Amino acid sequence: MIENIFNTQRKFYNTGKTKSYSFRMKALGRLKKTILDNQELLYQALALDLNKSKYEAYLCEIGIILDEISFHQRHLRRWMRRQAVRPSMGQLPGSCFRSPEPYGVTLIIAPWNYPVNLSLMPLIGAISAGNTAMLKPSEYAPATSKALVKIISEAFPPYYISVIEGGVKENSLLLKKDFDYIFFTGSPYVGKVVMEAAAKNLTPFTLELGGKSPVIVDNTANIKLAARRIAFGKVINGGQTCVAPDYLLIHESVRESFIREYRSALESFFPRKDMSQMVTIISDRHYKRLKGLLTDGHIILGGQYDDQRRFIMPTLIDQENLSSPLMREEIFGPILPMMTYEKLEDCISIIEEFPKPLALYIFSESNRSIDLILNNCSFGGACINDTIMHLANPRLPFGGVGASGIGSYHGKRSFETFSHYRSIFRQSTRLDIPLRYMPYSDKNLKIIKKLLR
Ligand code: NAD
Repeated sequence: MIENIFNTQRKFYNTGKTKSYSFRMKALGRLKKTILDNQELLYQALALDLNKSKYEAYLCEIGIILDEISFHQRHLRRWMRRQAVRPSMGQLPGSCFRSPEPYGVTLIIAPWNYPVNLSLMPLIGAISAGNTAMLKPSEYAPATSKALVKIISEAFPPYYISVIEGGVKENSLLLKKDFDYIFFTGSPYVGKVVMEAAAKNLTPFTLELGGKSPVIVDNTANIKLAARRIAFGKVINGGQTCVAPDYLLIHESVRESFIREYRSALESFFPRKDMSQMVTIISDRHYKRLKGLLTDGHIILGGQYDDQRRFIMPTLIDQENLSSPLMREEIFGPILPMMTYEKLEDCISIIEEFPKPLALYIFSESNRSIDLILNNCSFGGACINDTIMHLANPRLPFGGVGASGIGSYHGKRSFETFSHYRSIFRQSTRLDIPLRYMPYSDKNLKIIKKLLR
């Protein structure tokens, strides 16, 4: 089946039909309409897979996708235009421009944690840039994967866009095909598998990976707001967010007030201790792993769990040891280890112990402290006095650096990611400056030396 769909997509792409503005706009419109028609199905699927509330499903998955489609619809005509570039002296009287073309047949591999968002967000870019696409959702969110099959097959013929369901076996088969672009979202471990496969065909790719994203709270921060916003970042999607604050570095003088405010933030999020709105842990494997991490350090608050629902209570844990299990891997759950520091410079050394993170968060009222961190740490993106919200703007490209990813997307950047920009020089035929032709002369060399220095 994979072989067949791949071949029909290649054939369809070669007809050139996906390239026109009107085709792309119609496809974006169809995608939006089919999502709207199937909203209920998506809510049900996300509830089944992750116990995701309607509110979170709309805020983080459906709404954000509809908004991204609208953004592409508003700007696509301008993005598709060729961009004039100033010619160099040696090119005069010619002109230069850059012109985007689609890559061709693309592969999108998505994870389970935001299974609608992370499948459709790159797909919007693939469509608006004029490609065909094979989309492989995660097998760990099976209800959403089924819903995506229905939505995509209602909206598009498989020779244009199609969903391939399955797990590692299907991924491995897909990765053997000679795609024109691969867009992968998932763990750094599988990212390496994808990169290796891409290397075999010299296929260009984007890797949206994860890692340990630090959050720093200094002694000038508004502690109440910091606690609320960190708690938001840690409980949304049950902490299973690639940019969730992973561990907290807090100035020792504000530790106690932070604990108080973190507790009160959680109490305000879950009145009467009703946790029914919180997303549960995706699989038994991840649940067992997270439960195991609860024994790693002194629990300050939280720590409870419910095996039947695969639910873990938002938990704050004291942590001192950088090589403990909690600090060795990305947590990807509602557990927040906390370490105190004396000097801000210590935070930089701790952050440098780990591969470059996808996100970094600093809560501070001191511009000096903020600059010190921003200037000395490497990360994919950051928020100052907030968490996660840097993703909420299609004008701000999103992606990692080093182990947290290669490339970026969202908004115009998605269009650019799925486009190859051709650099084109148009020479005039009215004039032919002889400087570059043989026979070479000392006189001409003098002129060239004046032009090229
Ligand atoms: P994962 O890497 O296990 O799986 C991602 C996809 O790869 C799935 O579709 C899966 O079927 C496939 N896959 C798994 N093993 C494979 C193999 N050996 N060969 C080929 N394909 C394989 O990731 P996950 O558990 O679904 O998601 C969690 C990870 O993703 C975390 O590390 C998180 O930080 C990261 N993530 C990153 C972003 C981002 O935008 N940067 C977003 C969400 C999640």
